[in-house]
Amino acid sequence: MQLVDKAKHQGSRKRLALELQEMGIESSLVLEAILKVPRHYFLDSSFEEHAYQNKAFPIGTDQTISHPYTVAFQTEVLAIKKGDKVLEIGTGSGYQTAVLFHLGADIYSIERQHFLFDKTKQLLTAMKVKAFLHYGDGYEGLPEKGPFDKIIVTAGAPKLPEKLFLQLTIGGMMIIPIGQGEQTMTLIIKTSKSTYKKVEFDNFNESHFRFVPMLKNKK
Ligand code: SAH
Repeated sequence: MQLVDKAKHQGSRKRLALELQEMGIESSLVLEAILKVPRHYFLDSSFEEHAYQNKAFPIGTDQTISHPYTVAFQTEVLAIKKGDKVLEIGTGSGYQTAVLFHLGADIYSIERQHFLFDKTKQLLTAMKVKAFLHYGDGYEGLPEKGPFDKIIVTAGAPKLPEKLFLQLTIGGMMIIPIGQGEQTMTLIIKTSKSTYKKVEFDNFNESHFRFVPMLKNKK
């Protein structure tokens, strides 16, 4: 695997970070992580020119990478701190995982597609991104590794997955796109074993938030 990060890529990342800032991303930690992670490593080389465009990118079954704004937004809302134990559902390309790594999180990530799981594991290892990667069904979470301070769901779920809620610490937060068909980006703040506060972010251009569905079982 050849990983080459040239000055032109770094320049493109600066532009992308500026655009994200103009779109409302304020956290300097998140913007720094965007500057640090070479997004072109996560797309097949034939798509390299798309890597730093801040727009939705058509993805086939084997190529699943979140929109840069979505990654920045979900990461900012969770206010990831060094040492936070974070569970990610939908490893996909691994881009979000790498951003979390640069913020100092202790990461656990689940992917249900075996091909993507293998491919991304190789890439993250080559990049020296440390994360516990698990092939399985995200609806189950990772009860033996929890509880988690933060949970980030990068696929759209029809409703709040109960088992994931149970694996949050009290005071913990989950960011998840919820809804049938169209989703609303939703923040869940766990206030006790069985209660939570919910914040819905519906003031965003819907094109930023379009998600691959969160499907049951492994593939
Ligand atoms: N975080 C990724 C986004 C990937 S898109 C990135 O930064 O690139 C969403 C991913 O969720 C896809 O890879 C899809 O295969 C995966 N997915 C869908 N349902 C899932 C489930 N139940 N468990 C785990 N992963 C799931």
